[in-house]
Amino acid sequence: MAAWTATIHPDIPTSLLSRRVERTVRGRPASDGDGVRLVRVLGNDLQRRLDPFLMLDHFGSDDASDYIGGFPSHPHRGFETVTLMQQGRMRHQDSAGNVGLLEPGSVQWMTAGRGIIHSEMPEQEEGRMAGFQLWVNLPAKTKMQAPAYRDIAPESVPVVSNGAGATLRLVAGRALGAAGAVQRPDTEPLVADVSLEAGAVLDLEIPTTHNAFVFVHEGSVAVGPVDGATTVPAGTMAILGNEEAAGGVRLRADGSAPAGVLVVAGRPLREPIAQMGPFVMNSEAELRQAVHDFRSGALAT
Ligand code: MN
Repeated sequence: MAAWTATIHPDIPTSLLSRRVERTVRGRPASDGDGVRLVRVLGNDLQRRLDPFLMLDHFGSDDASDYIGGFPSHPHRGFETVTLMQQGRMRHQDSAGNVGLLEPGSVQWMTAGRGIIHSEMPEQEEGRMAGFQLWVNLPAKTKMQAPAYRDIAPESVPVVSNGAGATLRLVAGRALGAAGAVQRPDTEPLVADVSLEAGAVLDLEIPTTHNAFVFVHEGSVAVGPVDGATTVPAGTMAILGNEEAAGGVRLRADGSAPAGVLVVAGRPLREPIAQMGPFVMNSEAELRQAVHDFRSGALAT
């Protein structure tokens, strides 16, 4: 494929233009569940900009005291949670009777819909635990749908390569002509964990309709067009611009080391966002109803 460029020229199709980095964001330390230490990469302040994504947490520690408390029983309503395990094991159980093992390379895609109560607890007392949790909003019309849960084993996540040192584990959406493990309506999310060999380049299509960001979790990656790339170090998110004519993004690993990049994109819902902790609805009245339903035991029935 020709090198992507930022120069808009009539002879260059939209699909060959790379988005630029609009800004980079360092996550901030946070704690959730029963004292699990994590880094909140995407927080409330970016929910409008990165609509339909509500949250991204990255957790990773060799110290069991950072994760041993796990995420005991708690409710959700109105959106979807996506958990990508990199290392370690956790057990999922929920009010709909689902049980799942989160193991290295597995993905849990949970649609809370009108309500689910679940727990995610470590199945180890030592060693490294690492992974991501991404929250994807649901449109008003499906916030109260029946809950759904998919426990996707590591070998069921499609792997595709560009033949030039880039390998994608394709969790959701489409890339390089392949379909990911999950396809969702409305938000049409693309979620891909990209591994780049040292110096490797990946040109990845992203629909121009979508908001998009990348999170570098290993190595260092130049993000953006050849003539306007931004170097993004590990532990940093880059929000990609919504240039009208840019049909994707170019990622290039630093020449000295391999890199790992989570690429996330989705179609914005452009609806009001009302959040109270684990409930994400469109209005304060709907949040009050969610709290009422949870307290009365009607949330997850
Ligand atoms: Mn949860």
